Amino acid sequence: MPLTGKQLIAGKWLDGRADTFHGVNPASGENLEPAFTCADEFQVAEAVNAATECFTKFANTSPLERAEFLNACADEIMALGDELLERVSAETGYPRARAEGERGRTCGQLRLFADWIVKGEYLDARIDTALPDRQPMPRPDLRSFNQALGPVAVFGASNFPLAFSVAGGDTASAFAAGCPVIVKAHNSHPGTSELVAQALAKAVEKCGLPGGVFSLILGSGRRVGAELVKSAGIKAVGFTGSFSGGTALFKLANERPEPIPVFAEMGSINPVVLLPEALKGSAEGIAEGFVGSLTMGTGQFCVNPGLVLAVEGEDLDRFIGATTEALSKVGAGVMLNKATMLGYQSGGAKLRDQQGVEEVAAGEATGDEGGFTCQASLLTVSGKDFLENGELQEEVFGPTSLVVKCRDRDELLQAVAALQGQLTGTLQCTEGELGSYGDLVELLRQRVGRIVVNGYPTGVEVCHSMMHGGPFPAATDARFTSVGTKAIERFLRPICFQNYPENLLPEALKNDNPLGIARLVNGEKTSDTV
Ligand code: NAP
Repeated sequence: MPLTGKQLIAGKWLDGRADTFHGVNPASGENLEPAFTCADEFQVAEAVNAATECFTKFANTSPLERAEFLNACADEIMALGDELLERVSAETGYPRARAEGERGRTCGQLRLFADWIVKGEYLDARIDTALPDRQPMPRPDLRSFNQALGPVAVFGASNFPLAFSVAGGDTASAFAAGCPVIVKAHNSHPGTSELVAQALAKAVEKCGLPGGVFSLILGSGRRVGAELVKSAGIKAVGFTGSFSGGTALFKLANERPEPIPVFAEMGSINPVVLLPEALKGSAEGIAEGFVGSLTMGTGQFCVNPGLVLAVEGEDLDRFIGATTEALSKVGAGVMLNKATMLGYQSGGAKLRDQQGVEEVAAGEATGDEGGFTCQASLLTVSGKDFLENGELQEEVFGPTSLVVKCRDRDELLQAVAALQGQLTGTLQCTEGELGSYGDLVELLRQRVGRIVVNGYPTGVEVCHSMMHGGPFPAATDARFTSVGTKAIERFLRPICFQNYPENLLPEALKNDNPLGIARLVNGEKTSDTV
């Protein structure tokens, strides 16, 4: 089906009733066809009503039925073929290989959730059988498991048009949990969003599910996005994007008569701590890996290493020298859209203006090609200035990093202690330093969601143990991840059945264990019948 520029509301493609806009090719600055129409508040309400109406039916599908649906979503996305890859590249400036890699990741995570839910672990089924003769009080029969939370609103990020967008991790985990989803498409990739929505609509139909299970609406975040989050039928929000966007939606959700959780994964500067022995042994090697991580995808990753912390001296100078040389060979990169380029320019200018900050290295200068390009940059500042100025921790989204030159070990510890919440913290160290810097490691551990040893923060594996989140301001709730199978926990809630007739209990809690899942029965993990 060719692109229509329409909204998908409960299985129907409808013209939006508000303003129109175009996707833009960031490499040339030119508009892409067709024009997209935006939803008005009545269309947002239609999508929410449809999701609310079908919630019980979808929530009560079996894990196997939802696994089939998730696999069908992946199959239909693959069936979009080259058209999808070409549109991703046109709307983001990403090379085809990146588009292909991200499609693989997106379909892989849909299939991972399919495999995961049939195992039943996510249900966390628990059974405490009645003890009628217990003294001094009998115990009733108590059984609990996790059930779907309700319709979920999803906001994707500009920099992951597939993996953190329409059928990205938030949507996959919400579907896996049994929650209908309404996506507010990112204006930076409306064509990609529509193509993926076409695939999901086919999967919904193929699996005989109600249309309300998935809707896609277009329009500005502050208007349709806010309308969606304020809608009474929405019970949770999944968001990936900027700090300002995430906190605005968090505030809105908490001001509702019925507040709801907002799982916002926001920006981060991902400190890389260079410890002395590792630096002495391999300053040039570390610099090489660091530049690769800093400039990958034109630095447009939430896990981009925007901060380096180390003790000053000859070895740190070697690192800076090698980084400078490598950066000088990095060409100007294409950014995702004009707003991102302008934000990079103004954020970089603000950082350079701060007390004690010096630019020591830069990539190839940008030309006048008409696209949205940027130049990589490396800055330095003293530990003292870093400690006195919280603004040095503001994310500059793109290939810019600030090296903090600490006076000594104590100042390095103070710099780590001053860090705000982060998605990741990286240590370049010897094994011995992990022990001898135990105090620093402990400080870092309290401030990040993931610790990387002798690697770089870019590259977020989709698996069972991934934690992609962290203490505020990296995310709004440090207890949850937005990547990996644990992401499903955001869209579930426990319910307990007390003295409920056995034959009417959900399958997961019946005595004969028809799902064949592992359960906690009277405190022991078992797949046996009760
Ligand atoms: P963004 O500007 O926050 O946009 C994300 C979505 O939120 C868009 O649909 C946007 O709609 C909406 N939105 C933004 N502000 C809003 C508001 N005040 N009220 C309601 N809706 C609002 O993010 P972005 O364009 O993707 O910018 C990149 C940022 O995302 C970077 O800071 C990066 O670090 C972060 N990021 C984080 C992760 C992570 O996992 N933590 C992953 C990727 C990117 P409109 O555009 O229509 O306003």
